[in-house]
Amino acid sequence: MSQEIEFITLCKNKVLSGHTITQEEAEKLVNVSDESLHFLSNAANEITREISGNLVDVEALINAKKGKCQEDCSFCSQSAFYKSGIDTYKLLPADTIVQNAKFSKDNGVKSFCLVCAWRGPTQNDFAQICDIIKEINDKVGIEVNCSLGFIDEHMALQLKELGVKRYNHNLESSRSFFSKICTTHTYDDRMNTNQIVKKVGLELCCGGIIGMGETRMQRLELGLDLAGLSPEECPINILVPQKGTPLEVQPRLSLSEILRTIAVFRFLMPKTILKIAGGREVYLSSEQEKALLGGANGIITGGYLTIGGNSPVEDFEMISKIGLEA
Ligand code: SF4
Repeated sequence: MSQEIEFITLCKNKVLSGHTITQEEAEKLVNVSDESLHFLSNAANEITREISGNLVDVEALINAKKGKCQEDCSFCSQSAFYKSGIDTYKLLPADTIVQNAKFSKDNGVKSFCLVCAWRGPTQNDFAQICDIIKEINDKVGIEVNCSLGFIDEHMALQLKELGVKRYNHNLESSRSFFSKICTTHTYDDRMNTNQIVKKVGLELCCGGIIGMGETRMQRLELGLDLAGLSPEECPINILVPQKGTPLEVQPRLSLSEILRTIAVFRFLMPKTILKIAGGREVYLSSEQEKALLGGANGIITGGYLTIGGNSPVEDFEMISKIGLEA
């Protein structure tokens, strides 16, 4: 066995016996040679299967309020700073959102995430969102998650009382890269909301976007910070450059870089649902099994905030084809 494979096995056994790998070990793992990448992915898969079984978490989301966001996140076509040409709308009527939740449930989807493009909800927006959640609870009965930007503790508590299971608020990128992608808020602002979510006892969904020009070590830095938050779920988005945004011409990340990131995130967060989110269909169209058999155990189905995606039927077929369950 080569030294690298021996090292990967050692780290895998360490994780499987309930221990945490060190930063130094994570650095070595993320830098294994391309020849050993297959072993790294296999080891990440073994950790996933051993700890979480064969289940793939399938979630649908709705962009409940689209565009004209006052923040300047450079990857985001919903920012009012950029001429991305997307259609925009205010908060959707409750009926539309409830119908979407019902469609998701009827198609076998277990959870439904309400996402709004804004810095955070006003009191009025928040009251409307709460009414919509009550209606979904009454009429549909699907697990509801939310992604509403910055919220205070009072709002977080209200969501918890309404039965919201999980709150999404991504770190987006590493602390050392964050100021390159956003100037209207800080990394610590994002951390703060995540701490509030945890404090009130909501489950935390927190991840980021890879392929924005950060280095491999900055991707690892993000992974280490995420692991420190112990999120129940971690979405890994792969940048799909959006027209009109500053990252429009960003070169694509290679498949091996994506797979190495997913695998190492699994070593760092053995119990977390690692969800391949935006970019899955673009980057991994024929290679999705490599991600789902290389550390990931969740997907977003039915499209994303500003780009389309596979239908739930296609995704369920793909999952069963590779011997996993949804
Ligand atoms: S990522 Fe969120 S906060 Fe940033 S511009 Fe887009 S919608 Fe606004």
